[in-house]
Amino acid sequence: MLIYQQFVKHVLKPLDLWRSGDYAEIFYWREFERTQFLPPDELRHLVWQRLRNILDTAYSRIPYYKSTFDHAGIVPSDIKTDTDMLSVPILEKRDVQANLQTMLDPEYPKNRLIFDKTGGSTGTPVNYYYNIERKWARQAAMLRHDRWAGYEEGQRFASLWGAARDMPVPGWKQQIKSLIFPKTLQLNSVNITPELMLRFNEQLKRYRPPIILAYAKALALFASFLKQRGVSAYQPKGIITSAEVLTPEDRQLIEETLSAPVFNRLGCREFSVVASECDQHNGMHLMAEGLYIELVRGSRHTETGETGEIIVTDLLNTVMPMIRYRLGDTASWVAGTCSCGRALPRIDNITGRVTDFIVGMDNRLCSGVALATFIVSKRPSFGQIQIIQEERGKVLYRVGCGQNKPLQQPDLDFLREQTELYLGQGIHIDYEYVDVIPHEVSGKFLFSKSTVVREMFQ
Ligand SMILES: [Zn+2]
Repeated sequence: MLIYQQFVKHVLKPLDLWRSGDYAEIFYWREFERTQFLPPDELRHLVWQRLRNILDTAYSRIPYYKSTFDHAGIVPSDIKTDTDMLSVPILEKRDVQANLQTMLDPEYPKNRLIFDKTGGSTGTPVNYYYNIERKWARQAAMLRHDRWAGYEEGQRFASLWGAARDMPVPGWKQQIKSLIFPKTLQLNSVNITPELMLRFNEQLKRYRPPIILAYAKALALFASFLKQRGVSAYQPKGIITSAEVLTPEDRQLIEETLSAPVFNRLGCREFSVVASECDQHNGMHLMAEGLYIELVRGSRHTETGETGEIIVTDLLNTVMPMIRYRLGDTASWVAGTCSCGRALPRIDNITGRVTDFIVGMDNRLCSGVALATFIVSKRPSFGQIQIIQEERGKVLYRVGCGQNKPLQQPDLDFLREQTELYLGQGIHIDYEYVDVIPHEVSGKFLFSKSTVVREMFQ
């Protein structure tokens, strides 16, 4: 098998990239493999060179940025330090929606633009464009970060993923390709049933992919199900979790059940991989050569360890620059250098989107992740549970109990006590028992859903 893998990596894959015109992806990948080990000052120099270039490009070529910079009274040459970036207006998702045409380089041939869009199930759907060079760089970045988890080009791959648009297209080209290249084994997390999970585990054992890529919560559900049933789980070499917040409890459950290390990742449709863990598992290294990341709180940057909103500037998308884009997730900086030798800065404590927070009695916002960590994970007997808020002062616990009995009195007492502790005295609690809690259309599982917090941010 190793010979076949080498044949795919060194012969078939380059040939396929050559045929599809994507051969330059390899050059980006080689560059990223090199730059990840640059000394910190050289890396910073590279990032700032690219940041200055994208600011200049945006101001000189893109009508939207010419107008917003002029309105803010700044020119790119004013931006000399990280703090100076705070004077550049933040780009909201709704700004991209409203200004799509004026955010494009008018000189760039329309027929060479690559169109893409976000899922939109957890926020505002966003349409955007990039060019072929950015596509190569995105794919190369993904490959670099996959390799940190032990993946090598040409290896088989399994995924527990949700968005239908990510599925391979079963066209004739794909079918021919699948005869030559290793296939991806997939369990769609939009539709998970006990039968499908058992079948997926059996398929994994036959197919033996070294790496599993999964939605964090969906894989935790899979691990918990196999553990409960006493079924021996397939043991891959590495696991990449993404798209959902990975709680420490879920990580432990997955690593224990599948006997493999978890490499957590922050990725998004707009920018592909944003940050991921190396084999030291101490925070996530940024994809810093392609993305300039800020963590902000109000009108300032956060200190190390302090939670802030993630603001992204794409350093390589010159046809539709995305400058200071509010991603919707929060994180904090990790201090010091990583023992892996990479100078790429690290972030940690990624928490869910602002819309996932629940509003407490005194209007305090409580992170759904915190509720999951501090309330539900203390009682594994709860199984699948979701907290929904549609009115101030009220929450609904939706419990996916399947064949199990609904919550017992001690469970209800515990939930009331903990809910009041985090959301305030006097909060009204309702319960709803369902067979299985459905995933969102995108396949993501939302632990907490609040329409109240959305109203607050509109
Ligand atoms: Zn590292």
